[in-house]
Amino acid sequence: MNYVDRVLGELKAKNPCEPEFHQAATEILNGLRPVVERHPEYEKTALLERFVEPERVVMFRVPWVDDAGKVHVNKGYRVQFNSAIGPYKGGLRFHPSVNLSIIKFLGLEQILKNSLTGLPIGGGKGGSDFDPKGKSDMEIMRFCQSFMTELFRHIGQDTDVPAGDIGVGGREIGFLFGQYKRLKDEHVGVLTGRGLSYGGSLARTEATGYGLVYMAEEALACRGDGFKGKTVVISGSGNVAIYACEKAQSLGAKVVAMYDSNGYVYDKNGIDLAAVKQIKEVERGRIKEYADRVKGAEYHEGCKGIWNIPCDIALPCATQNEIDEASAKALVKNGVKYVGEGANMPTTLEGISVFRKAGVVFLPAKAANAGGVATSALEMAQSSGRLFWTFEEVDKKLKNIMVNIYRNMDAAAEEYGVKGDYVAGANIAGFKKVADAMMAQGIV
Ligand code: NDP
Repeated sequence: MNYVDRVLGELKAKNPCEPEFHQAATEILNGLRPVVERHPEYEKTALLERFVEPERVVMFRVPWVDDAGKVHVNKGYRVQFNSAIGPYKGGLRFHPSVNLSIIKFLGLEQILKNSLTGLPIGGGKGGSDFDPKGKSDMEIMRFCQSFMTELFRHIGQDTDVPAGDIGVGGREIGFLFGQYKRLKDEHVGVLTGRGLSYGGSLARTEATGYGLVYMAEEALACRGDGFKGKTVVISGSGNVAIYACEKAQSLGAKVVAMYDSNGYVYDKNGIDLAAVKQIKEVERGRIKEYADRVKGAEYHEGCKGIWNIPCDIALPCATQNEIDEASAKALVKNGVKYVGEGANMPTTLEGISVFRKAGVVFLPAKAANAGGVATSALEMAQSSGRLFWTFEEVDKKLKNIMVNIYRNMDAAAEEYGVKGDYVAGANIAGFKKVADAMMAQGIV
């Protein structure tokens, strides 16, 4: 049996009941086959076995008290996956679906994503099965304080620097940072995505969505095309979706649909983003309300139908496995030409295969959504240097990083004989630097 198949087999046997982790590892290791063949020393030093095993997994109890005085207990996680090229870096996700498998898949992806940015950051991820929906600000604060009361002993500005993800935005980062500072008596860049008044970076809020569109813009430009006049479907209506929509619209595209976990809105006139921001960012409401407020818009219960809407460009920006084989086939049938993954692993392996066969330009998450973590690393640089860059400076650096990632994964795919396969290209380009660092550092 070849090396990659053996490692994948062992991984599945050693980590049963972790389907998302198996899925991410399969996608990554399949893409690395040509690299592993060229480097027999990797097998001799069990490099892949070490690469897929987290350096450290922390799991802990998070007790908290709701407004009615009832005590709740959630699970907390931090997976410190790989620190070969820099301190662990990756978001915290608060969502009821969170479990060890999901955090490990996200952490594994994060290693390569962070490497692709070209910045010195290792890979980690964390979170909780806590559901922030419907909770008061005080409940969110008490939960965040309890979560940090355990997490603080495992993180640090040179060790592990968490950020936001699903369910963790500016409000949560503020509460988490406040508790860290209180426990450690240190005002340092231990979390990114901080508010501007206490060490945050301009453009961090916009970074993942803008970065996604910058990469797609480059992919279009390389084919003599552009966003102008294109019809775009975006799933989700959270941080990534909103700013992907904003940038796509500013480049002249018409975004016609968005969703949350209850259902989607279709607006043939083009999404009114100010209305979405008011509902989602200010009122923390449901996307359904958009159809009540904006004339001509339709609301449909359930999410899947969004992929039946004809579009040139699809940007899945909500969560993992949103686009399965059937959804991918529907998109292809209706003429999609580009798919850019804003969310992490939003397309199943079967869905990716449909896009590949149809010749759709497919920009995988670890490259396409790297703008968020790249800007987090720029926030770390500003924190350490006690600097504060303008929005334009950060945005320019972000755009350069996204264009470079695109070029690097394109070149890596070509170098290893899989031209145009950006899934393989991103995995290879991200892995090479991590592998070099791991080889140089001995068996650790
Ligand atoms: P938010 O919490 O701001 O928004 C998430 C959006 O996705 C919401 O509209 C939410 O709907 C929807 N959603 C979540 N779960 C589901 C589900 N099971 N089915 C349908 N819709 C769902 O998160 P972000 O925008 O920050 O993150 C979105 C994705 O982007 C995630 O995969 C995240 O890992 C990835 N990402 C985020 C980065 C960032 O900088 N924020 C960086 C890189 C990747 P509802 O409100 O109903 O829950």
